Amino acid sequence: MSLLIAGTIALDTVETPFGKKENILGGSAVHAAIAASFYSKVSIISIIGADFPLKHLDFLASKKIDLSGLNKTSGKTFRWSGYYEYDMNQAHTRDTQLNVLLEFDPILSEDQKNAEFVFLANLDPEIQLKIINQLKAPKFIAADTMDFWIKNKREKLHEVIKKIDYLLINESEVRMFMETPNIPLAAKRLLQLGLKGVIIKKGEHGALLFCDSLHFSAPSYPQEIFYDPTGAGDSFAGGFMGYLAKTKELSAPNIRKAIIIGSTMASFNIEDFSLDRMKILSIHEILARFDEFRKFSEFESLTHTQWV
Ligand code: AMP
Repeated sequence: MSLLIAGTIALDTVETPFGKKENILGGSAVHAAIAASFYSKVSIISIIGADFPLKHLDFLASKKIDLSGLNKTSGKTFRWSGYYEYDMNQAHTRDTQLNVLLEFDPILSEDQKNAEFVFLANLDPEIQLKIINQLKAPKFIAADTMDFWIKNKREKLHEVIKKIDYLLINESEVRMFMETPNIPLAAKRLLQLGLKGVIIKKGEHGALLFCDSLHFSAPSYPQEIFYDPTGAGDSFAGGFMGYLAKTKELSAPNIRKAIIIGSTMASFNIEDFSLDRMKILSIHEILARFDEFRKFSEFESLTHTQWV
């Protein structure tokens, strides 16, 4: 296996200015795994209840995602319900039903324990810790989180941060977590906790990387088709981690490239509800959009200017 992804598998109810959909396929692990599956072999560790439609498992399996680490219980699947207003950068949670997540005790298979690249998608930090503690020789661990866990499990989240390499977090959540409105300062405080890198997701305005040796700003994509931002952060992470797991190279240029791949995958995910756009996405489309991203941020040095 090249990439282990832990996170939620969910039935989401989502309302945006473009419509409302109930009980659709979602979850942090699902969005991340589908995006990553374009680049590397993915294995999921997660939990579902008896109410989870089998057609969704068939879809994940059709992307060659390994589901042997999926716990199937008699309970109810994790559910999230939220809405977005015209500023679709901000998700508003209406309801979170943890359901089977409350009984989730992740036990990794031997293969999963040996995973070198690991993405801990948005999930209870206590469960994220249980997974980290079973890994034998990880090369690169990244994790995501959100306001729900920052509010409810702040201390456990600090423990997670001490054991991972990169944290991916969105801009309003990093402000809340580090208790400052200043993003570079919030990133600096996170790096001081021992992280090698912090990626701050700014919704449709791009992403920022902070680490000791480099700072990188990924451009925003002028998105005209934008129906549902749910899962944008997870598909960003999936593209980022999928590409790193495929290339196994953690050099600065490769990390930058992985960030643009993440942005590319997120830009497709938001074009429709749930995973509907990702279901029909082609490699050809990914290549073309990646190139557009590259062109948006290309400019010459000021030394080429003729001064009067
Ligand atoms: P994002 O990429 O941040 O838009 O993530 C959206 C996905 O996160 C949705 O499909 C939800 O099912 C899932 N989600 C919502 N709340 C939580 C939570 N507290 N923990 C883990 N996953 C969540």
